[in-house]
Amino acid sequence: MEKAVNALRNSKYTIAFTGAGISVESGIPPFRGENGIWAKYDSQVLDLDYFHENPKESWSVIREIFYDYFGVAQPNDAHKVLGRMEQQGLLKCVITQNIDNLHQAGGSSVVYEFHGNSQRMVCTQCGHYFPSQDVNFQKLPVTCPKCSGLVKPDFTFFGESIPTEAYAGSLEAARNSEVCLIIGSLGEVMPAAMVPWEAKRNGATIIEINPKPSNFTGPLTDIHLVGKASEVLLALEQRL
Ligand code: NAD
Ligand code: ZN
Repeated sequence: MEKAVNALRNSKYTIAFTGAGISVESGIPPFRGENGIWAKYDSQVLDLDYFHENPKESWSVIREIFYDYFGVAQPNDAHKVLGRMEQQGLLKCVITQNIDNLHQAGGSSVVYEFHGNSQRMVCTQCGHYFPSQDVNFQKLPVTCPKCSGLVKPDFTFFGESIPTEAYAGSLEAARNSEVCLIIGSLGEVMPAAMVPWEAKRNGATIIEINPKPSNFTGPLTDIHLVGKASEVLLALEQRL
């Protein structure tokens, strides 16, 4: 903890790279592992080709996972500490793999959404964007209010590329960083997992917050703070 506090105090450019683990305390399960989403559902519903071939079936699972019980989640202390750190000039940006909008809800304004956002919808035919609040989930699949084309949530499906601006912005921030916090990410999803490696190549100190070891822990992490995201971040904030 002492080492992490010193690194954060001395850093002129700190970034946070977050994964599903930071939202676990908001009640959103991660994808992988024992209680993960993929233990209950088949991940093929988020495969782009499968979605186009089976829009109704895919949409009914997507509605259940991302809108019935994701939709009511609130930011937890971990999201809020990151929001306050940004306001105090202690954090430049958050790079998140999450699609739950909880960083913005927790007070962060510079957020690179590596995998998009579930609160936004996009028409696969005419490209029209609209908020998920405007969707009538009783009628599936969701169709476009403008052209009646098939609508998809604007987050990254399997087989889809990373949003260009978030990708470029994340890598640039990683290259400029002096400290990179990795919070609640297993580091299995590529190319997102490249971000902390890019930071390290630039000489950044890597501070990881996770109750368990991840793919980053052995080869990349300099300081591993073992514990839940909210507990560790609140403790860090008190000492900064
Ligand atoms: P992951 O599901 O592969 O791993 C979750 C990690 O979080 C694990 O290392 C676990 O030990 C850790 N963890 C669990 N509880 C924690 C806590 N309280 N505090 C800190 N860490 C905790 O997550 P991933 O590596 O982010 O990859 C999964 C992919 O799935 C990502 O691309 C992400 O977009 C997506 N996803 C997003 C959400 C969301 O938006 N909230 C939820 C599930 C999955
Ligand atoms: Zn349309």
